[in-house]
Amino acid sequence: MPENHTNIIDGKAFAAAVRADVALDVTALKTKHGITPGLAVIIVGKDPASEVYVRNKVKQTAEAGMYSLHHDMEENTPEADLIAKVHALNSDPLIHGILVQLPLPDHIDEAAVIAAIAPEKDVDGFHIVNSGLLATGGKGMVPCTPLGCMMMLKDRLGDMSGLKAIIVGRSNIVGKPMAQLLLDANCTVTIAHSRTKNLADEVRSADIVVAAVGRAEMIKGDWIKKGATVIDVGINRIPAPERGEGKMRLVGDVDFEGAVKNAGAITPVPGGVGPMTIACLLRNTVTAACRQNGIEL
Ligand code: NDP
Repeated sequence: MPENHTNIIDGKAFAAAVRADVALDVTALKTKHGITPGLAVIIVGKDPASEVYVRNKVKQTAEAGMYSLHHDMEENTPEADLIAKVHALNSDPLIHGILVQLPLPDHIDEAAVIAAIAPEKDVDGFHIVNSGLLATGGKGMVPCTPLGCMMMLKDRLGDMSGLKAIIVGRSNIVGKPMAQLLLDANCTVTIAHSRTKNLADEVRSADIVVAAVGRAEMIKGDWIKKGATVIDVGINRIPAPERGEGKMRLVGDVDFEGAVKNAGAITPVPGGVGPMTIACLLRNTVTAACRQNGIEL
């Protein structure tokens, strides 16, 4: 992470603080209630990026003092077998959160698998019941990435009432829930996507910019209003010949070097939203364990 800017949001440090907080709650749950929050992660097949994510999730779950269960299933696992596994975990009292790592192999219908997870154990917050609850102001499980983005925004900005926010990207897992959370925080929200006209001008008018597109450095530095807060969700791998032949590096959806000059605060890639996503998964697992046992922490 570049060090000569004071407006960079340190997602790694923020995530470490969230995980420390989660670990305290886990200790309290164990000692006062005899409950160890349990998270089960299922991975199907051998996608290298997914394997790294899953390893990190399992490691950090254990470090927070939780019970961590990891199921590795073969690439050619039939959909019915995966759903049967999910059903078994739904009725396992030691498991409070279930995460099926996406993407799944092509022969498996992701929607059917997500629908099979008990909504109260859906710590990714992707089940239609949880998206419905989020959309209608109810108390469901909030998807981890948008939850992490909101924590960093609230920390920087406090009350966001009346601020203009733009989210670039309208996926079910990032863009839409993010828009909902910003609306709940009383922002005036614009959701942009691939058919949006004059995207640069839309971004220029925003006090908060959340980029969730999946296109390397697409949002230019001079699109960022002076003082705006920029949250870069994108993770893109681009060639880095300066590091040696065939080497790659990670960049976000925002041209960081340009945007950091205008932004009041900005998350880097890597070291911004990514670490917060896993920290929020742990937070959601504790929340799920509390709700399933009628406990208020
Ligand atoms: P999706 O591919 O599901 O959605 C991308 C969105 O970007 C779509 O809504 C699409 O519009 C929009 N889009 C594509 N091209 C343009 C364009 N030229 N101008 C404006 N909008 C455009 O991606 P995700 O939401 O799943 O992920 C977005 C990024 O965030 C990815 O890089 C992903 O790797 C990263 N990510 C990072 C996480 C983290 O923990 N840091 C977690 C999850 C995702 P349309 O709907 O019109 O096609």
